Amino acid sequence: MVTLDVTDVRARARQHLFPHFTRGTVWRDEDLPVIVRGQGCHLYDDRGRRWLDGLAGLFCVNLGHGRQDIPATAFKQMGQLAYWTNWGAAHPAAVEAATLIAELAPGDLEKVFFVNSGSEAVESAIKFARQYHRSQGQPQRTKIISREMSYHGTTLGALAVTGIPKFKAPFGPLMPGVRHVPHTLGEVVPEGGSAADLPSVRRIVEVIEEEGPETVAAIFAEPVQNSRGALVPPRGYWQELRSICDRYGILLVADEVITGFGRTGQWFGSTRYEVVPDLLTFAKGSTSGYAPMGGVLVRAALGEALLDSPQAGMFTHGATWGGHPVSTAVAAANISAMRDEGVLDHVRRMEPPFQAGLDEIVAGHDCVKEWRGTGYFYALELTADRRTGRPLTEQEGVELVREVMPRAMREVGLITRPDDRGAVLLMLCPPLIADAAVLDELLAGVDAVMDAAGAYLAGTARRGLTPHGLAGFAADHPVTRGPSRRRLQTDTTGPQMAGKGAR
Ligand code: PLP
Repeated sequence: MVTLDVTDVRARARQHLFPHFTRGTVWRDEDLPVIVRGQGCHLYDDRGRRWLDGLAGLFCVNLGHGRQDIPATAFKQMGQLAYWTNWGAAHPAAVEAATLIAELAPGDLEKVFFVNSGSEAVESAIKFARQYHRSQGQPQRTKIISREMSYHGTTLGALAVTGIPKFKAPFGPLMPGVRHVPHTLGEVVPEGGSAADLPSVRRIVEVIEEEGPETVAAIFAEPVQNSRGALVPPRGYWQELRSICDRYGILLVADEVITGFGRTGQWFGSTRYEVVPDLLTFAKGSTSGYAPMGGVLVRAALGEALLDSPQAGMFTHGATWGGHPVSTAVAAANISAMRDEGVLDHVRRMEPPFQAGLDEIVAGHDCVKEWRGTGYFYALELTADRRTGRPLTEQEGVELVREVMPRAMREVGLITRPDDRGAVLLMLCPPLIADAAVLDELLAGVDAVMDAAGAYLAGTARRGLTPHGLAGFAADHPVTRGPSRRRLQTDTTGPQMAGKGAR
């Protein structure tokens, strides 16, 4: 392996490594973070600095960094059978992972189709829905309904299902026949009322009727929508989606690429919201990031019907790496460890103190409109001034997301995600093993970031909201670690996550 020194690695990254979803100014920054090691909830850069991983990598390192047992499983699997397929023959690692996943999934979601990422999982679900309907004599059912501002991936089909205009604009024309309906932000089912009366749900029915119910293949939704800020569904929402799909013969797809494998405190968000979708896409947490993997869970009857249909006889879709022995062995080891170490119980136990900490952050900062989320999955939404109701200007939003929050995060050693999809947000999604001490560190970091945001906004208010640069801001408002917060009121014994392999 080429060994790079500290200056080399940045120069070579600039020269040879092309970044994903990263602005040129960030990639070319002399201080581009170079992460070299992870341990538990922390990362270390090439200069020896320790960072708190507030986003579990990209919502995926559920079991934390630096375990030794999972790599040992991968190493053993590579030595025994590094490669075989899920085409025409099976192999034990894929069978074991599929069995474990199917046993944890709700209802009769029993068949697992493995791929390599969340986008591929969504792409596969689109194709399954279309081919399933075709195999049942309904080839005209090709249309998809999904929600505004939802993110379902980058491949062209998944991108068409995605509801974020700025991610789609550079790549059109995209797959036709996708309609986007409102998400559930701000919706509450009144006492004694029904989710069927929510405007977002009524709109779904209207769109189905407008398109012609016999042309709609599937509805895609995340149990908790990430983009637009951890949108927890109103009571009864998923039951209503289920009943609409049943009424019109449409397949219900839960995109659980983030919510799968413990993020909400249950194995799947569908379990948490008590629904059995027809298809369930997963990726990220299935391996905790120790290997790339994704997949689609399919209800037993649907899978059998496709294989039995004289018209199809098979799912005409697959990939060289789908169900790779190393990835599936890693998934089995990861899921078994999560189960044996009580990680989901830990998330459920820590949810109230985590939320109490977020309450404190909102109370202490007029620039925070509210927090949303559940389990270990949260968003803080920013505003210019919660008390007066002044919204952020566009320029304030841009500067908060691109400069103020990132700078403050760097100063306190926190890695997480300022997000500008539909609002100005800070996402919090730590590894599921984060204990009270880690959550305290996370909340103290967020406190400091919000102090910086508040100071910046006070400055823009003083300047009368006139356009200005940020040049003077940093010098005026050095970020210090947030005021020492009260410690989380909880039993600090985590799950037995410090067990096997965790050091
Ligand atoms: N679906 C959802 C809900 C996601 O959050 C993501 C990624 O964040 C994807 C699909 C795409 O997954 P990937 O980045 O693995 O392709």
